[in-house]
Amino acid sequence: MSLGFDLSVLEELTSNAKQIQDDVLTKILKANANTEYLSRFLEGSSDKELFKKNVPVVSYADVKPYIDRIANGEPSDILSGEPITAFILSSGTSSGNQKMFPRNNNFENIKFAAALSSLVISKHVHGYKQGKVMIFSFTQPLSTTPCGLPRDEVVSVGAPFASLLVQVIHFLGNYWKELCSNIRSGHVSEWITDLSCRDSVSMILGEPNLELADLIENECGQESWQGIISRLWPKTKCIEAIVTGTMAQYIPALEFYSNKLPLVSRTYASSEAFFGINVNPLSKPQHLSYTFLPNMSYFEFIDVDGDGEIVDLVNVKLGGYYEPLVTNYSGLHRCRVGDVLQVTGFYNNTPQFRFARRKNTVLSIYVEPTTEEDLLKALTSATVVLESSDLILTGFTCFGDVSTVPGHYVFYLELKAKVNNSTGDLLLDNKLLVECCCAMEESLTSIYRHFRAKDGFIGALEIRVVEQGTFDSLMEYYVVSRGSSISQYKTPICINSAEALEVLEEKVLARFLSDKSPPL
Ligand code: AMP
Repeated sequence: MSLGFDLSVLEELTSNAKQIQDDVLTKILKANANTEYLSRFLEGSSDKELFKKNVPVVSYADVKPYIDRIANGEPSDILSGEPITAFILSSGTSSGNQKMFPRNNNFENIKFAAALSSLVISKHVHGYKQGKVMIFSFTQPLSTTPCGLPRDEVVSVGAPFASLLVQVIHFLGNYWKELCSNIRSGHVSEWITDLSCRDSVSMILGEPNLELADLIENECGQESWQGIISRLWPKTKCIEAIVTGTMAQYIPALEFYSNKLPLVSRTYASSEAFFGINVNPLSKPQHLSYTFLPNMSYFEFIDVDGDGEIVDLVNVKLGGYYEPLVTNYSGLHRCRVGDVLQVTGFYNNTPQFRFARRKNTVLSIYVEPTTEEDLLKALTSATVVLESSDLILTGFTCFGDVSTVPGHYVFYLELKAKVNNSTGDLLLDNKLLVECCCAMEESLTSIYRHFRAKDGFIGALEIRVVEQGTFDSLMEYYVVSRGSSISQYKTPICINSAEALEVLEEKVLARFLSDKSPPL
């Protein structure tokens, strides 16, 4: 398909970032200057300097009353000059609160960014253009996901986030026998009652296909699911799913299921804005950065390590840590996103950012400040211990249990055997899991270790292994209770909702405690 542009567009955009950002802001201010929101600060002016001087940096909570008014039927020019035609719900799983953002019909930009990212991938992945990309993009309940696309055309398999792709594979693990029987009979199971889903799956199924059913059965029926993606879709050249940020925890599982095919994180986007694309799709997840696209929204950056100064896109400094602010076409002005990014370089004149971890405290029993980064470090230590075993980690979260005295950290892990044994039971080696507990404690901060080992203010770290499918249930809990889309779901790194904890507690298979104090 001809896109009407080629990769020279990327060069043009990134070379002229300053001018393009200027034009974007001018356009947004012209469209929105007379909205109720902006006229409070600008009195109808669309002057850029005045914008920077008078329009406050806001968090979602500050604009929520305006958004709620539009959602409740007031005209959209409260916030946006262009009519608001839809709302997009954020997953709310990373920040804890679900957010609703206005959208207008300006989807062209997003289509453009997605097409540009595809062009970049096809430059790096040989044969990408010649095949099909299979993305599991959930807009319906998980149970209605159709599988079994033509095997020899698929060159890339993916889902928006890594966690979701792992869940898709587990779903297939639970339903492959039924799927094969559907393919064999050419008939969709009766319990799938959603008509549009039945129709689309029936269209893919077509006539009974014994050969395909046998092929899938043969692969899925093997004891080990190592490389299952490449076995089912043999021409797959890469896996497309976001594996940066908190999604890094799913890398070992995806590497296992794909036999270490390249993991491609294409884009950085949120409900607030589309930020950027990965122009080196084959770079390793730990070295991966996103090049901002200056035509998507107007971007400013709060210097989070320095004095909180706000700078423009082209003025960020190499190595600096920043939180992006979004001014978009749909009525958000200088809105904080909450992510922390580090500048890793420049593509032409446009900065590239690595996804850095938030530095705020997410877990604390006493007064120790344990951050997301600390928790992910602990998780990496556990993964290293597990590497020598037959187990892979497929789900992770934690919470601070203060019902014990002293309180202690609890890590819920969902584990899967690399090779299924005949009973299907998970064999949990006490020594191995206690070793994991100790390795995690050792990698936590010195303040944690001090309170744990010296002062006894924190008790021994505990691992609770949960049944397979528990993290799917957790996802369902969040998705159903918040009404957001599965596609946006991100497993929370730390849980603070009693109901969500209940979902986990019901499925605990075994508990393990660290058996020694970590070194100071
Ligand atoms: P939502 O608004 O619910 O779609 O969530 C958007 C959030 O997902 C962003 O603010 C990031 O925290 C996270 N996110 C999006 N893209 C990436 C990425 N490429 N790498 C890591 N995290 C991401």
